[in-house]
Amino acid sequence: MDNSAQGGEKKAASYGEPKLNSLYQTLILEHYKSPRNQGEVENPTVEVHMQNPTCGDEIKLTLRVEDGRIAEVKHSGQGCSISQAAVSMMTQLLTDLPLDDAGQIAGRFTEMMHGDEDAMKDRSMGDLRALAGVSKFPVRVKCALLGFDALQEALKEIGASS
Ligand code: ZN
Repeated sequence: MDNSAQGGEKKAASYGEPKLNSLYQTLILEHYKSPRNQGEVENPTVEVHMQNPTCGDEIKLTLRVEDGRIAEVKHSGQGCSISQAAVSMMTQLLTDLPLDDAGQIAGRFTEMMHGDEDAMKDRSMGDLRALAGVSKFPVRVKCALLGFDALQEALKEIGASS
């Protein structure tokens, strides 16, 4: 299909924003502009800082764990819309979740970013499904996964310390 008649926006750089379904694009931008759970948890159980040097994305994830559940989770940092929207969507799902379930969502999202179609249809992924189209842009997959990389590192540290 030729969409060149509408919008007229052409980007020569392959590193530009991936062209996604516009409904999804809107949701991504909405999270980017009004991130959920932004900031830092006071007295966190674990704190992880992750960077994606290829794009300049940075995420600091802080978590407070109580009785094997994520009682509170916040993120701070900076970067492209995909990295920041993805971590915002992620924290939305994580609050009050048992640690095991958090690990499962991380695994599921990683599968989705590697093109797994079942994962793309999984309702438990919530708003994160808006990012499914990013899987077609390998260079941006790292952006989308950065928050989950931080989460998996955090889960590892919690596991190691308990
Ligand atoms: Zn990025």
